[in-house]
Amino acid sequence: MNPASPAKAHPAQALAPNLRTLDFGVLAQCIHCGLCLPTCPTYDATKLERNSPRDRIALMKQIAEGRSDVTKTFADEMYFCLGCLACQTACPAGVNYAEMFESARADVEHQRILENPKRNAIRFVMLRTIFMNPRLLRALGWGIWIYQASGMQSAVRTLGLTRLLPKNLRELEPLTPGIKAPFSDQRIRTIEPSHEPRRYRVGLLTGCVQDLAYPDINRDTADVLQANGCEVITPRFQSCCGSLHAHNGELGLARELARRAIDSFELDALDAIITNAGGCGGHLKNYAHLLHDDPTYATRAVEWTRKMKDIHEWLAEIGIRPPASSGTIQRVTYHESCHLSHGQKIVTAPRKVLQAIPGLQLIELPEASWCCGSAGIYNITQPEMSRQLLDRKMGHIKGTGVSIVATANPGCLVQLEAGARSHGVELRLVHPVSLLAEAYRGQASN
Ligand code: SF4
Ligand code: SF4
Repeated sequence: MNPASPAKAHPAQALAPNLRTLDFGVLAQCIHCGLCLPTCPTYDATKLERNSPRDRIALMKQIAEGRSDVTKTFADEMYFCLGCLACQTACPAGVNYAEMFESARADVEHQRILENPKRNAIRFVMLRTIFMNPRLLRALGWGIWIYQASGMQSAVRTLGLTRLLPKNLRELEPLTPGIKAPFSDQRIRTIEPSHEPRRYRVGLLTGCVQDLAYPDINRDTADVLQANGCEVITPRFQSCCGSLHAHNGELGLARELARRAIDSFELDALDAIITNAGGCGGHLKNYAHLLHDDPTYATRAVEWTRKMKDIHEWLAEIGIRPPASSGTIQRVTYHESCHLSHGQKIVTAPRKVLQAIPGLQLIELPEASWCCGSAGIYNITQPEMSRQLLDRKMGHIKGTGVSIVATANPGCLVQLEAGARSHGVELRLVHPVSLLAEAYRGQASN
């Protein structure tokens, strides 16, 4: 049965169709040991048990067993949780917090418990309209690019005109990512050959926010793949992967986007499908589970999940061709995207990519895997907590004394760029793969 369609469900299940149809083994794994508590940013901030993973799981279990309903308090708690999955890494019992978290938020939306006209309008525009329509998203990207490239954004900021915006928009304005037209389709051809004798043929995901704000990273990813023996296939007008929808209680829309993503690649002809966005990768690897009861897509979703690789993971697997030394010394620190490190357990591969670059000195960042406060749209929905986490992260970055910070997720890049501006720090925020691509280019020009 599709857990998102309550039509045939028992009345008790209809109140929380996702939690109440979740495999009970998932909910029963927690042994209440509390080892996850010190790793949870919300518990760390408040020291309240109700803001901890242990209490959130206990509430979810009560609802799943029909001993409690989805209340406003529960809904607020599930949206105070970052979904950073640090608790999942710390848990000795192997709790699958990601699945519980998605089910819980889907039930909150199913019960329409947090609804109000403003929230509904934002969700309709963002989740149901813009991020479901890649052409519309691209058109919006061009609009913002014109606003920024024409100097209007700088003028508005310099003249303090952002004060005229409503409070919510005023708080969001500094988080507007810089848009870098042209986008990926104009930078990467549909088929790009390997620079070496071809060893692999791979598909490249260009993303949604990544495509507008960091299409240069997509170009760098294609370059690095080509330099490492891969032919690169990049379908046009790719849709959002649906992670934003899955993490915000819209599992039906997430399934629709997963089907679209699968349809856009010829899976049988590819050795791997590559993503360079840590925040998307965990969700992309979950398509087999997301579509497990879809009669048309279940088998292809399993194949998709088997072939889905984060770029660092793929490079570590096939072996990185080291660039020749350029003689340039760079001191770089690395911030881990939550869904790359906690969600996908990819911790050493990005460091290997960085360490493959001659002259690069990797300075370890204290609390490298502690959330920066971006967490999807958390910096919009919970600005105060997000700001606290960003300030903590910026304190650690400043402590390293470096001016280059590598991180592998567009959400983290946008958040840390905003942090650098607000802290008045000159920082270069960069994807590890871009540094590797630069090293290959430097070698070619020597
Ligand atoms: S996902 Fe992050 S914020 Fe949520 S309970 Fe786990 S550690 Fe805490
Ligand atoms: S989620 Fe894991 S670490 Fe946290 S209390 Fe439960 S069993 Fe212990």
